[in-house]
Amino acid sequence: MQCPQCGAPVVLEETECIVRCRFCRTSNIIHTHPYPCYYMEPRQKKYAGLQIAYVPYWRFKGLEFRLGTKQPGFRVIDHSYLAVDKSGLPVSLGLRSQTQKLKFIQKGILESFLLPVISRKDILKQIAGDGEKKVHIGEILSLVFMPFYQDTDILYDGLSGKVIAMHHSDLPAHKKSPAYHLEFTPSLCPNCGWDLKGETDSLVLHCSNCMSFWLIHNKKLNKFKAMFYDKRQDTDMQMPFWRLEIEFKTLECSTYTH
Ligand SMILES: [Zn+2]
Ligand SMILES: [Zn+2]
Repeated sequence: MQCPQCGAPVVLEETECIVRCRFCRTSNIIHTHPYPCYYMEPRQKKYAGLQIAYVPYWRFKGLEFRLGTKQPGFRVIDHSYLAVDKSGLPVSLGLRSQTQKLKFIQKGILESFLLPVISRKDILKQIAGDGEKKVHIGEILSLVFMPFYQDTDILYDGLSGKVIAMHHSDLPAHKKSPAYHLEFTPSLCPNCGWDLKGETDSLVLHCSNCMSFWLIHNKKLNKFKAMFYDKRQDTDMQMPFWRLEIEFKTLECSTYTH
């Protein structure tokens, strides 16, 4: 993507939510709502003069914990699902979502986009499945648009150049990019205006000037409670620990043996 301050190129991982620009040295927090929308750039130069239609895919990435009665377990999942109801198109992005660079859709892209027909809710239901109880942690749901070249009566995969068994008129795309919000806010302490510190994938940032901590949530920096243990003058470093309060509704023990 481009630095919101100076326009210099910045490369981010999907888990990162802070753009730190090495040219203008500013840091900005990215806010996307309701989910991030990305696209992949077409790669076939020989079809460069053709119209491009972007087709949406839901991408779900995260950890899945199965709480089955037989055996609990977990796995890392990174799946994508076609978000329109059209046969002939690839049903998923396969490894493309991991191997291709994804770019945020920003204003000014004048290509055609197909809008998702299969809702976010439906796709989450499909991922959850029925039967075994599953819990997802740290998941990211995003919409990724894949390019297709449209010739008069033929359609080409925008990445591999392969012919798709579908007529171009079957893809009635609109010259309108999907509606979602992409905003940036400077990562400055709301309390004193100092630069906030933290890794680019941190969820909590801190101000070393006024010793406050800020949780990035709902397009805001929300003050986060922090406590210090035995803060002395000669302390060189403070190590952070998360304190979690956990509550069980029912805790069933089948054995009391240690
Ligand atoms: Zn910059
Ligand atoms: Zn501060």
